[in-house]
Amino acid sequence: MTTRWIFTFPEMISFATEVRAQGKSLALVPTMGALHEGHLSLVRQAKIQCDVVVVSIFVNPTQFGPTEDFARYPRNREKDFQYLESSNVHAVLAPSVPEVFPPGFSTFVDPGPIATILEGAQRPGHFRGVATVILRLFNIVKPDIAFFGQKDFQQVVMVRRLVEDLNLPVRIMVCPTVREADGLALSSRNVYLSAEDRKAGVLLSRSLKRVEEMAQAGEVDSQKLLEEMRKTFDAEPRLHLDYAAIVDPATLSPAAVAVPGSVALVAARLGTGRLIDNMIFGPPGSSPEMRLQVALMTQAADKESGASPRPDIDRLRLRIERCRDCAAVSSISLPAREFLVKYLRRDYADLGSTRVLVIGGCAPIDPFGLPNFHPDAPNPFATRLYELVGVKNFVEFKAHFALTDAARCHAIGNRVDERTLEYCAKYLREELKLFPNLQSIVILGEYAYLQFQKHILGRERANIKAFGELLKSQGRAQETVRLPSHGERDMRVFYCYHPTFENKRSPSLAAYFEQA
Ligand code: AMP
Repeated sequence: MTTRWIFTFPEMISFATEVRAQGKSLALVPTMGALHEGHLSLVRQAKIQCDVVVVSIFVNPTQFGPTEDFARYPRNREKDFQYLESSNVHAVLAPSVPEVFPPGFSTFVDPGPIATILEGAQRPGHFRGVATVILRLFNIVKPDIAFFGQKDFQQVVMVRRLVEDLNLPVRIMVCPTVREADGLALSSRNVYLSAEDRKAGVLLSRSLKRVEEMAQAGEVDSQKLLEEMRKTFDAEPRLHLDYAAIVDPATLSPAAVAVPGSVALVAARLGTGRLIDNMIFGPPGSSPEMRLQVALMTQAADKESGASPRPDIDRLRLRIERCRDCAAVSSISLPAREFLVKYLRRDYADLGSTRVLVIGGCAPIDPFGLPNFHPDAPNPFATRLYELVGVKNFVEFKAHFALTDAARCHAIGNRVDERTLEYCAKYLREELKLFPNLQSIVILGEYAYLQFQKHILGRERANIKAFGELLKSQGRAQETVRLPSHGERDMRVFYCYHPTFENKRSPSLAAYFEQA
C-alpha cells in the first residue's frame, strides 16, 4: 500500500469524501510530527478500529507561547514518512501554516476554565491554539474516531469537552502512555535533553510510580502524596518543578484524596527542555486501559456537597453494560458502530455465499478474542462452536457460516440488560442485510434468543417462551421464520445453549448443515 501525502484541505476533503462513499470508517491521529513509538501506538490502535487511517502532522504556531520552542520544535519529514509508510497509514495530512491559518483567519476556540489551569497556567493560550486546530482538522477530515495519548491528559480532557460542548460527531479514543524502559514517557521534545538531563528526566515517572505505590499501600491523602513527589524533585537541582498535582479527572480541579480515577500530573523544566507526565490511580493490578476507562468515566466532584470525586463504579458498569456506544468508553477498543460489520467484511470474503449466520451473546472487547483473529489457537468458545455446527476449524467454518453477536457492550460481567439488547439490535438488523442468501440462523444463548425474538422478529415479551423451558426437552429448539431483511424466504432458526456462558451443551447441529 502506498501512503498518500496530502498538503491541502481541498485534497483532504475529497479523500475523506471518497472514503465515506465507500462505506469505510475513518480514523484521525493528530500529531506535530517528529514521530516516535508513542505516536505509532495511536496509529496501531486506529488501524485496529477503522478501515482508513489519516495521520496529520502540523506544528501549530498558535499553541506555542512567544518565548516557547516553535521555531526549533523537531521536524523530521523524511523519518516520519518512513514510519508512516511502514505502518501502512493510508494518508498523511501535512498542511502548511498558511493552509491552516490563511490571511484573514480570526476565529479561535476558547476552551474555558480547563485551559487556564496546570499546563494552561504555564502556557497561556496553548489550549486555545490546540482547540482551534483540532476543531479545524475535525471539520476537514470528519473522522469517525480521533486518537489521542494519555501522555497529554489535560489535552484529552479539553478535547473531550470540546466534542461534547459543540456536539462534534466524532468519538475520542485515548491510548496509554508509551515509555522508555526506565519509565521516561516518550516525547518528541526528549531530543532536547542532554545526557545528564535525560538521566534526571526519569524522576518524573519515578515520582509518579512512588505515589502510586503509596496509594496502593493505603496512603490516599493528596497532600502527603504531593509532598512525597516534591521530595523526589528536591533531590535533583537540574529539575525545576512547574507543578505537581492530584486532580479530579473530569475537571482537573485538585482532589483531596486519591481515588481510582484520580490523576497525578507533573511538569518540570530541565535545561532547555520541559517534560510532562501523569499517572491514573487505579485498583491494584489494574491495566492502563482499565485506569483510563475509570478516569474518563468519573463524574465531576459534587460541588454542592463537597463530596470527593469518585468514579461511580456501579453507574459505570451499568452504562457499559447498557451500551458501549452510549458509554463512549474511550479505552474500549471496539466501537459498536464499526464493530462486526468491519470484521465480517474483512474475514469473510464472500458474504453472499454464507448460508448460516451464528449469533453469539456479546462481542468481545478485544478483537483478538474473536476466533478469526487467532484461527489456530485454542479458544474454548470457538472449539465448542465448531463442534456444535460440525466443522474442524475456522477455514471450514467460514466456508458456510459467519459469526456475529447480539450485543457489543460486554465490558464488565456477563449480564446484559434488555435495553442493551434493544439498542444493539439495530446493528444486528443491518448485519442481516449483508447476507442475501442466508438459509439458517443459529442463536447462542439466552440474550441472543431474547433479542432475536423481541427485536428482530418483533414478538411481544409475554409471548416469548422462557429460554430454559424452550430448550428443556431436547437441549435445543428450532422454528421457521421470515425476517424483514429477507422478504418472503423461509429461514430455519436453531436456538442453542451458549457454548461458554452456560453449563449445559446443546447436541450437535452438524447433521443439519451437512446437507446445506
Ligand atoms: P504530539 O505530536 O506531541 O502533539 O502528540 C500527538 C499525539 O500523540 C497526542 O495525542 C499525544 O498525546 C500522543 N503522544 C505523545 N507522546 C505519547 C506517548 N509517549 N505515548 C502515547 N501517546 C503519546
